[in-house]
Amino acid sequence: MPQHFLLSKKYRDTSLHRLLRMTDEELFDFVKKLKFGNGKEIPCTRCGAIDTHPFIKRRKGWKCKHCTREFSLTSGTVWADMKLPLSKLIMIIYQFCTSANGISAVQVSTDAEVAYKTAWVVMHKLREVIARTIDTSLMEGEVHVDGGHFGGKPRSGQFRPSNKARYAAAAEKLAGKTQGIKRRGISKANFERKKRNRRIVMVVRQVAPAEGANRTRVFLSSGENEAVAKYIAKHCIANGSLVRTDENKAYDSYKQFFTHQTVEHSKEYSTIDGVNNNQAESFFSRLRRCEYGTTHRMQAAYMIDYANEMAWKEDWRRKSVKEKLINLLESSFHVGFSRWWRGYWQGYRRNDEMLIA
Ligand SMILES: [Zn+2]
Repeated sequence: MPQHFLLSKKYRDTSLHRLLRMTDEELFDFVKKLKFGNGKEIPCTRCGAIDTHPFIKRRKGWKCKHCTREFSLTSGTVWADMKLPLSKLIMIIYQFCTSANGISAVQVSTDAEVAYKTAWVVMHKLREVIARTIDTSLMEGEVHVDGGHFGGKPRSGQFRPSNKARYAAAAEKLAGKTQGIKRRGISKANFERKKRNRRIVMVVRQVAPAEGANRTRVFLSSGENEAVAKYIAKHCIANGSLVRTDENKAYDSYKQFFTHQTVEHSKEYSTIDGVNNNQAESFFSRLRRCEYGTTHRMQAAYMIDYANEMAWKEDWRRKSVKEKLINLLESSFHVGFSRWWRGYWQGYRRNDEMLIA
């Protein structure tokens, strides 16, 4: 039996241990090489002039020969204006890309010795980097589509209805106190709250023969209906593909554009001919573990960000630690300023949940 990839030496091509032993200068050179390459001439991130700009050692930056403004490794990137040392930033990115189901901002803030608010924003900026560098070309071949319900779990009642004696005694004791009585079962208000915060994460995955899925895209919606299914068909899947879904009526229109096969989940997970949408289900399994084990409560406002993170983790699951680290670092230099998290703790909030329907 072949060795699991995560147990192989190929996967462990760098480690936290190794990163911690690097000096600040070594880390600076490593990031500089990623951003500007090996050449002596580098582009000014403010005016774009390529030249041998003089390096100001004390400021760890350059002064442009043309526009005379100063720039550093992080100018013009999502990390602009953050006073975070490179060593801490790289450590947080390391933790972000090696955790299977996400990692809590509290854990990161403890390990990297940064404020909780800093850890929270850095990780959300990484999710934004992922969202902005998604491959948006159409998927083809075999594609699995499904929707999963996330968030908005109601608080359960205080007593189990099966415990009838305890239930009756408590009801008597709490008589007249509406708050207590409400908590016995799931109250109407609680149920409404559940509906308000519940969203559907739609996932589309392209299947690679014998390798599971190799591309994943996610969308947030308030229902799994025909409009949502059509949006996905139009924006994600090439005509003539083989699309596999469950028996939900929302996907009925897929017969017009694709070879559409369904599996009835109330009866089986895979038909006798092997028709299944298990790649979509396996994505939900990871996102569910993230919800239950890491974030505990997924707010509708940021649900798409967590879904994007898990989609990236699925797609990069067979890449080494170093490949993942370099991918995220490089991408973070190329997407410009953060449009969603810059000034978050100063009061700027993204108002858009980014629902497709
Ligand atoms: Zn310049």
